Amino acid sequence: MLASFVEHGFTVAHAALARIAGNGDGAKEAPQLKANKSIPTDPSPAASIATATMTSKRVVCSMTVASKETISRDTICIRLTFKEGEGMIIPVGKHVKISCPNPALEATQWNGKVDSETGEATIERKYTPVESDMTGFTLIVKVYPCCPQFPDGGKMSQYLNSLTTGQALDVELPFGLIQYFGNGLFKRSKNEVKATEVAIIVGGSGVTPMFRLVDEALRVESDATKFSVIDANRDEDHIIYKDRIDALVTAHPNRLRLTHILSNPSEAWTGKKGYVDKETIMASLPRPSDHTLVLICGPPPMMSAVITQLEELGYDPKRVWEF
Ligand SMILES: Cc1cc2nc3c(=O)[nH]c(=O)nc-3n(C[C@H](O)[C@H](O)[C@H](O)COP(=O)(O)OP(=O)(O)OC[C@H]3O[C@@H](n4cnc5c(N)ncnc54)[C@H](O)[C@@H]3O)c2cc1C
Repeated sequence: MLASFVEHGFTVAHAALARIAGNGDGAKEAPQLKANKSIPTDPSPAASIATATMTSKRVVCSMTVASKETISRDTICIRLTFKEGEGMIIPVGKHVKISCPNPALEATQWNGKVDSETGEATIERKYTPVESDMTGFTLIVKVYPCCPQFPDGGKMSQYLNSLTTGQALDVELPFGLIQYFGNGLFKRSKNEVKATEVAIIVGGSGVTPMFRLVDEALRVESDATKFSVIDANRDEDHIIYKDRIDALVTAHPNRLRLTHILSNPSEAWTGKKGYVDKETIMASLPRPSDHTLVLICGPPPMMSAVITQLEELGYDPKRVWEF
């Protein structure tokens, strides 16, 4: 099924996007993308944000690995492309779901523990693109290799690391409740927030939704929204996408403030040390206000600690959103 949605005189998208995901009852209509005069035809960052007006019906696509490279220790960058004639820009704030064969199909244990996925033919994990255009998107994935503490490692991340150029991958998209529409306008389900200051706390691979949001927003000169980010990691080697994030600060010093904090840095580290605490939040992020939105994403222990700290510092829980 190949459909071209042309309304109001310009093409919105080509969408031969496989079957619509949901109740698994086979092929259905291709997703309808709402035609909107504000949707430009070019896949620039501004267009990406505008294209967020697409309906959020999910689709399942067979995508192709266009490239895969190791970008730092245990971190890979994978570019996935749509088939010819298919395409969708993943709205800023949203993520995708990838399926792969279950490597532990018949194993009763994984990493020494009872495995809840035993017997399932496929497993699914979610990933947030750091870049997206009509031809495909890019993922940054932290790979969990086998090690003494985790003898089997991570299922999906090792599978993704094993892929080579040209291989196919099943992807369902888009997922997520949060979406950025540009100029400080965020939506979570039906809840709408306008923010001039966005405070972000991320840890580990939680950096990916932050990067996509900040990167896209900063490219739009007319978007005056300011971002303050705390990026928490174990040590220098574990800071995912550090070069790209630091480059954003260099390019946009008036709109992006960044604090790296490491819990176990090398002796050479001159930045902040320890875990995210109230002192770090007060020193690095804007004060609570009705024009500030806080976005957080990271491992569960960090998230619960940070939520408590933010509440104690007076941030309105309604303006603290988990990516
Ligand atoms: C909305 C959303 C977006 C996400 N976006 C991204 C993203 O953009 N990039 C990304 O990398 N991840 C992302 N994740 C996490 C991702 O979905 C997976 O949880 C992650 O890749 C691990 O999956 P796995 O199958 O490899 O590990 P599993 O097999 O599920 O292993 C479970 C856990 O065991 C632990 N573990 C296993 N081996 C090791 C090891 N060697 N060292 C330390 N711990 C280990 C890890 O805590 C791991 O998460 C996202 C998650 C969500 C919910």
